[in-house]
Parts: sequence; structure tokens; C-alpha cells
Amino acid sequence: MAYGDYKGPDKPDKGKENGSCNRTRCQCAPARWYNHGSYSWYCDDCRAQIEFDPVNHRYWKLWHEPKCGHPQFETREMMDARAALRKATEV
Ligand SMILES: [Zn+2]
Repeated sequence: MAYGDYKGPDKPDKGKENGSCNRTRCQCAPARWYNHGSYSWYCDDCRAQIEFDPVNHRYWKLWHEPKCGHPQFETREMMDARAALRKATEV
């Protein structure tokens, strides 16, 4: 199912890790991408559509990434790897 196809009620696991995509008109599973902008989880397709939207992508690169040092969307593995790296470089 693509974004826009879903017209049902909100699923109980909407926007949760490995649950249903946070986009109301999608809600596909598994939601394995965490959006640092909305603090919710998204499916592969919606993550790509949102993260690589030219305007949104430019905005994140310009205003957020220099401060936070990571992309707008990350998987659990990407966040864990960053945390491990941070820990390893701590004195
Ligand atoms: Zn989605």
C-alpha cells in the first residue's frame, strides 16, 4: 500500500517502533525509520518521500544536521551505532 491508500482509523501502534507508519494515510508496517523531527516512526516509503523531499532535505541539512550531527531519519541500528561510537570516544 502506498501513501494515501489507507483511509481507516488510526492503528494502535501508529508511529511506534516496528509498528505502523506514523502517516495517517499510510500506516504501513513495519515502521523502522525514526523521524527526529516528529519523534515518530515511519515505513521505508514514507521515510524516503519525506527525508528526500528537496525543500525538507535542504532545511534539515542547513539548520539541524550541523547541530545534531545526524540525518533526519535513522533506523534503530543507526542510532545504536552512533551511541556506541559516542561511548567509545568518551574519556
Ligand atoms: Zn508510510
